[in-house]
Amino acid sequence: MDIALARTWVQAIAAAVDAQKDQLTQLDSAIGDADHGANMQRGFVAATAALAEQEPAGPGDVLVKTGSTLISSVGGASGPLYGSVFRAIGKTLAGAGAGSEPAADARRFADALSAGLESLQRLGAAAVGDKTMVDAYVPALEAFQQAAEGAGDGGKAGDFAAAARAAAEAAEEGMRATTPLQARKGRASYLGTRSVGHQDPGATSTALIFRALADVTAA
Ligand code: ADP
Ligand code: MG
Ligand code: MG
Repeated sequence: MDIALARTWVQAIAAAVDAQKDQLTQLDSAIGDADHGANMQRGFVAATAALAEQEPAGPGDVLVKTGSTLISSVGGASGPLYGSVFRAIGKTLAGAGAGSEPAADARRFADALSAGLESLQRLGAAAVGDKTMVDAYVPALEAFQQAAEGAGDGGKAGDFAAAARAAAEAAEEGMRATTPLQARKGRASYLGTRSVGHQDPGATSTALIFRALADVTAA
């Protein structure tokens, strides 16, 4: 991942959020407070605006800036959670793709995604099965890692695209698997058993984020 790809990724997330904000809001109206679409849109509109004014040294800078902007612009739980994920991914990529340094390959990006998960769980304390964004993130990370490991020296662009595609598919599967679960974290957990039978909004936006990565790396 280089600067251009990092920017394109964030722009693709913003576009996907814009297209799917009504669905995100509908899901959040069933088991939350009906603001997930608006929260995601506010955050990613602010992030793309912040990036337009930035002269990043590398893709890490792009993603740290994205994370900081999400934290400062989104009031809901998803702002600080996704903000910390993007900041951690960006910090882990520091140096890659800057100046004469090579862009981050699939293995390096897998490490960055792993740091993102650590940060997400440090802040939100959710585990797989709690019906949150973690349910989409963990399988996506595992699929990405597996593909990156299998990719030999991992340096080729095609390897990155294959890893991103595998991650997107795993995230979508994880997202669908939240439907029968009872929420144990966040607002949906206040509903107790009434949260069963609804797909989690945050797992849905996490799947969207990984699908956007697959789309921009395939292009
Ligand atoms: P809010 O709940 O503050 O209105 P959003 O609607 O933007 O925030 O985001 C809700 C989503 O955040 C949930 O669907 C869930 O996936 C995710 N979420 C909530 N709490 C946690 C947590 N502790 N850890 C991980 N994800 C969480
Ligand atoms: Mg909400
Ligand atoms: Mg809210």
